[in-house]
Amino acid sequence: MKNITELIRNVPDFPIPGIMFKDITPVLNDPVAFDAIINELADRNKDKGIEGIVGIESRGFILGAPLALKMGIPFILIRKEGKLPYHKEKASYDLEYGQATIEIHKDSIKPGQKIMIVDDLLATGGTAVASIDLVERVGGDVVNCSFAIELSALGGRAKLPDGKTDSLIKY
Ligand code: AMP
Repeated sequence: MKNITELIRNVPDFPIPGIMFKDITPVLNDPVAFDAIINELADRNKDKGIEGIVGIESRGFILGAPLALKMGIPFILIRKEGKLPYHKEKASYDLEYGQATIEIHKDSIKPGQKIMIVDDLLATGGTAVASIDLVERVGGDVVNCSFAIELSALGGRAKLPDGKTDSLIKY
């Protein structure tokens, strides 16, 4: 993951003063690095019996969709409020910056389906905790939460279920 770390761009004071934004767009611009991330996530999770990938809008889609295709399993969307058209569940939470509401289609997960949640970055853990809540409310069984990047100092991991958090690059 060394070369990938070098491609992650630090953008100070975005989107608000005091936040050091980890910009993954240079990684996505590099097909070898992008492919390495997807392969690593697939490899680490191939023996967990995962039956669906939940991607969190929007950078969780960028990683989650190719990962689901590579693993040959369904891709399920968690979207920001107001974007999903059908019957849905909703959860609100606090972000490292601001507040957010996310939604999932009620029929997107089968009862007991083993799910891995994917996002680009784990910060305070608010997004992931709300996502676990949504997946469980529609019947899913969260077996793992995977992130490309983890900001360890923000303590997100401690809010997630024990032993079910994985990240490729830790700061
Ligand atoms: P949190 O809910 O605090 O764990 O925040 C995670 C979500 O916010 C992820 O979807 C990230 O994409 C985004 N995010 C939070 N902090 C940052 C950061 N410093 N750089 C890039 N994205 C961030």
